[in-house]
Amino acid sequence: MLRNDQLDQWDHDHFFHPSTHLAQFARGELKNRIVTGGEGVYIHDREGNRLLDAFAGLYCVNIGYGRQEVAEAIAAQAKELAYYHSYVGHGTEASVTLAKMVIDRAPENMSRVYFGLSGSDANETNVKLIWYYNNILGRPEKKKIISRWRGYHGSGLMTGSLTGLDLFHKKFDLPLSQVLHTEAPYYFRRDDLSMSEADFVAHCANELEAMIEREGADTIAAFIGEPVLGTGGIVPPPAGYWAAIQTVLKKHDILLVADEVVTGFGRLGTMMGSTHYGIEPDIITIAKGLTSAYAPLSGSIISDKVWKVLEQGTDEYGAIGHGWTYSAHPIGAAAGVANLKLIDSLGLVTNAGETGAYLNARMRDALADHRNVGDVRGEGMLCAVELVEDKDNRVFFDPAAKIGPSIAAALLKRGVIARAMPQGDILGFAPPLCLSREEADTIIAATSDAVKEVCG
Ligand code: PLP
Repeated sequence: MLRNDQLDQWDHDHFFHPSTHLAQFARGELKNRIVTGGEGVYIHDREGNRLLDAFAGLYCVNIGYGRQEVAEAIAAQAKELAYYHSYVGHGTEASVTLAKMVIDRAPENMSRVYFGLSGSDANETNVKLIWYYNNILGRPEKKKIISRWRGYHGSGLMTGSLTGLDLFHKKFDLPLSQVLHTEAPYYFRRDDLSMSEADFVAHCANELEAMIEREGADTIAAFIGEPVLGTGGIVPPPAGYWAAIQTVLKKHDILLVADEVVTGFGRLGTMMGSTHYGIEPDIITIAKGLTSAYAPLSGSIISDKVWKVLEQGTDEYGAIGHGWTYSAHPIGAAAGVANLKLIDSLGLVTNAGETGAYLNARMRDALADHRNVGDVRGEGMLCAVELVEDKDNRVFFDPAAKIGPSIAAALLKRGVIARAMPQGDILGFAPPLCLSREEADTIIAATSDAVKEVCG
């Protein structure tokens, strides 16, 4: 086994870490962490720390760490057949079974699943298929995609454009011109504090409709949104938001993509976030919870309506010109089948609803009265604490004060991993869906102490 100092050296000299301050890391100002193992909601590192991972990696290890059932399914698949492609009608028992399991768990009127490797590539697939769809329907101008500010849909060229966070655009020449951003459904951050929640929902729908009319509905192909805003701040939508948005989209014949990379397979206490909020999507993006990140796998779930047009397109133009070497990789598919079985047999969707409600309620009890806590919010096994400088007047901290990251660091000292969300002083929690009430209590006690340490 390599010595820690050797690993550190190689890490700093050769490994390009994503979403990292590269210069600080290279200078050694940002410490690395070499993770060695995990069980349940805990991970271990090379320095002997055991940390409660209250963000499930990147809200993805939904079944928790160290599940042997999934590890064994991966090993069995690797021994039997590590790889074959899925082009021109090929597949494996695992990929076909997983497609069936996904459709069984999806909302009504869903037809087929295209498997990719990451949430980003699934959303790239979605945009290509939407463009193809409108070309087949003879609407070559109907191509723009509307996303929301603070939405997160990946970090590729198109998906980084769909993402509505400055960090992902700045100096990358994004967003691309085919992407437009509309109001985020973020009631706590509304500009006009006098608005009621219902006023704010009407405002979001009106803004969307005004954009569509300004651009021309015949130029807008689709709207993409996460059922609950994730990386943009963990923000459940205000009541009635999705109904109001869908009314506008239907009126203008605009497709709806529900990005369920975070909410799919149980995180909200329901199998899918679309069903949770009465969303009727044309396409659903899935990843993370599909395999609980035991292997890379994502998917685009395609509705009957879109599927029929794709079939028509291939009759007219030949085989669909889209696919990757690793689409529906057998090892990912085997992990997916074992993972979805485990979610059912352990009752994790129910636990996400019940223990998630407990986590949110107790977090609110512990923190809502603190003078720097502006909002405690969540849904299912998602929770966020938003810090403000002046609560009465909703004045945010200067980002340079780094209040969110400082609290996350104080939490880490107490053995709990939370995420300082990238835009705003927001602490995010998205633990594995197997979290127990005792573990939730540990998270809450540590958060309460960490907020007091940093804010007083
Ligand atoms: N969509 C949503 C809602 C996400 O939260 C993420 C990642 O966090 C993505 C897409 C991109 O997924 P990936 O990082 O696997 O490319």
